[in-house]
Amino acid sequence: MPAPDLETVVSLAKRRGFVFPSAEIYGGFANTYDYGPLGVELKRNIREAWWRSMVLERDDVVGMDGALITNPKVWEASGHVANFNDPLVDCKRCKQRFRVDHLEEGAYGPVKRDAAGRIVCPIDGGELTEPRLFNMMFKTHVGPVEDEASIAYLPPETAQAMFINFVNVQQSMRLKLPFGIAQTRVSFRNEITPGRFIFRTLEFEQMEMEYFCKPETAERWYRYWIEERLRWYVEVLGISPQRLRLREHSKEELAHYSAGTTDIEYEFPWGWGELEGIANRTDYDLKAHSQYSGVSLTYYDEESGQHIVPYVIEPAAGLTRTLAVLLLECYTVEPDEKGDPRVVMKFRPSIAPIKVAVLPLSKNEQLRPLARKVFDLVRPHWMAQYDDTQSIGRRYRRQDEIGTPYCVTIDFESLQDEAVTIRDRDTQAQVRVPIANLLDALRERLGVCEPAPGSRRD
Ligand code: ATP
Repeated sequence: MPAPDLETVVSLAKRRGFVFPSAEIYGGFANTYDYGPLGVELKRNIREAWWRSMVLERDDVVGMDGALITNPKVWEASGHVANFNDPLVDCKRCKQRFRVDHLEEGAYGPVKRDAAGRIVCPIDGGELTEPRLFNMMFKTHVGPVEDEASIAYLPPETAQAMFINFVNVQQSMRLKLPFGIAQTRVSFRNEITPGRFIFRTLEFEQMEMEYFCKPETAERWYRYWIEERLRWYVEVLGISPQRLRLREHSKEELAHYSAGTTDIEYEFPWGWGELEGIANRTDYDLKAHSQYSGVSLTYYDEESGQHIVPYVIEPAAGLTRTLAVLLLECYTVEPDEKGDPRVVMKFRPSIAPIKVAVLPLSKNEQLRPLARKVFDLVRPHWMAQYDDTQSIGRRYRRQDEIGTPYCVTIDFESLQDEAVTIRDRDTQAQVRVPIANLLDALRERLGVCEPAPGSRRD
């Protein structure tokens, strides 16, 4: 099926409670979104799927959670204060500001040029100023006085927390190379390019892992993580391989710390865009922090009897950008039972925000107690929703549109035979199951039985 256009998905995301433009009642705020009840579940499920693959299912990766606001020296040592800059230009006529690299990529619309071939303002064709460097980190002040000495930064990535804690983590967990430290967290960048929904926002969540290894093995691990991460998008999230590609950075494009970077790109409705970057960061970060802090961030290699500075391979993924990809990727229009078009969000069950909807056939007082009983049976195990409004057909449509894999329907026969119907989102097939077997039947279909937040397993 062809990818839907962005507007269709943005409108569904708002209508169904996934993503809302932030502060809409005040006219919104550029590149800023709020996540609604379903968006927050979807984010949680993506994060958990990543954590499962990167930490739970592996022997060689541990997690951590670093402070957001920390000593500004971290960002001086990492090179962000000096280098996390993007060149900006202003239109002399309309005063709009643009990032030069995004202007060249056509992020503001088709590239316009003057007679001499110089790029001009994409809005009104006005002449542009010379580029000026602009640091993308947000600054704040710690304490009551707003002066140079109180400056602190909001983190533009999660990686530095893992570098500055390398020795703490390695020694406390008694880890041997190769090993990784994983973290999921919010990052902030002062993005001025219109963001195309949640593709590019001021505040976004990242899922990053720093994999420390012996220098001579770095190239092998770099290749390993490229393959492993690509596999994750296809096999765990169910993204079609035709809409994914690998793009290796040219020498000129490489970041100052990188000996090699490969992006995993997705084919968005506007073209290919980065979803994750895998970089061989060499020993740059550990060395930079060792030099700047005066504290040696090294590893004692028992085999050689030497202290070495490990190399680092970093798969850095965007959680919220992945959410945008899933909304685009899973959006499907196909015929319903009667041949009318229905919209289905074909999320993998493990990713779907709501796993089970419990639907009494009608809003009838007789059906209600049994339907509530079934709901109470299901909800400690899976994120479930109870809905008794409108016709059953419209409720199925609503659940299809939010991607709920299974609907459990309680009808008048259920009062007699103590059985319910399970409806499959994708095949629309319905099977009758005794209530006594319902949990087993759902477990069989949903794979893992995961507890809903704040509830217990039986
Ligand atoms: P881009 O070129 O799109 O600005 P980047 O190369 O600067 O991204 P990285 O620093 O490699 O991005 O960050 C890793 C991941 O974090 C990206 O692949 C992307 O998924 C996500 N990401 C980066 N910036 C943003 C943003 N402003 N909004 C949402 N996600 C982002």
